[in-house]
Amino acid sequence: MPNRLLLALARSQVAKAAVSRAPVTRDVVRRYVPGETREEALDVAARLAAEGLHVTLDFLGEDTTAPGQAEAVVAEYLALLSDIHDRGLADRAEVSVKLTALGLRLPGGEALARAHAHTICAAARAAGTTVTLDMEDHTVTDVTLAILRTLRTEFPETGGVLQAYLRRTLQDCVTHAGPGERIRLCKGAYDEPDAVAHRDRQEVDAAYVRCLRLLMAGQGRPLVATHDPRMVAIAQHLAREHGREPGDHELQMLYGIRPHEQRRLAAGGETVRVYLPYGQEWWGYLTRRLAERPANLSFFVRSLLSK
Ligand code: FAD
Repeated sequence: MPNRLLLALARSQVAKAAVSRAPVTRDVVRRYVPGETREEALDVAARLAAEGLHVTLDFLGEDTTAPGQAEAVVAEYLALLSDIHDRGLADRAEVSVKLTALGLRLPGGEALARAHAHTICAAARAAGTTVTLDMEDHTVTDVTLAILRTLRTEFPETGGVLQAYLRRTLQDCVTHAGPGERIRLCKGAYDEPDAVAHRDRQEVDAAYVRCLRLLMAGQGRPLVATHDPRMVAIAQHLAREHGREPGDHELQMLYGIRPHEQRRLAAGGETVRVYLPYGQEWWGYLTRRLAERPANLSFFVRSLLSK
């Protein structure tokens, strides 16, 4: 299970500043975050699209602390969507958005984040593509799903995320298995208390399979977000069992993780979407990636010490 200490550091600017100074950091960040600028990210997106992959672009940032910051995030997404359109990538590239980057945790945050997300969804539609609302920690699950429901009345193509580790999620899958739903199912990346989340790896995997069964049997478009070969195999089996075609569900993986497998699955006819983050606010994202895999962390620490 994710390393609790590391996840606690995800919100520490002091830790970020200390680690950022180490020369090796750039290499480790680059493994997961291919660029700091929109242009770099779009170049990578175009390259992946040419290789038969789809992408979802995420402008990194979370837990915005001032309204002006949230407005800057919206402006970046509008520019990104315009560029996606202009570069002819709209049929391959969509965007992923975190509501706390849009001001969800500010006073009056729900209305603010909903309005900002609405602006981004309208721009995505104008650009010919879609938005998926990322899911953050359990304190914002209800409000994120409520905003998703509101957005879907006008933009039914908007996607959401459910995290299999949350004890509530099986019920959420029942609610979100209907026609037109685009639900990304992931295991979950935050440090959650036992009361709300399974913490044992086997329990999380079992919950993931139960959720997958529901979504695959439903009428929506399941977005199967995992690098776990067993979960991918089960998803493929369930898709066949329910007579699904490659276009009506997706396999999704993060940039930098199992890249050969991403290409192998796409070459085999699967719709594979790569989550492609960019920007300078990579700290929270990186710490979650390191926490997922102790081997990554020990490699990183050894590299820091050897410099
Ligand atoms: P695991 O059992 O963790 O890993 C399976 C195997 O994958 C590992 O054995 C290893 O080989 C490989 N692997 C996994 N993680 C890493 C890593 N960091 N580095 C190197 N190898 C690795 N979480 C959220 O909470 N909210 C979201 O909105 C969200 N969106 C996501 C979008 C996508 C497209 C994906 C793929 C994941 C997303 N996640 C999100 C993260 C997710 O919840 C998991 O934390 C993450 O995917 C690791 O779980 P796993 O299913 O790959 O399985």
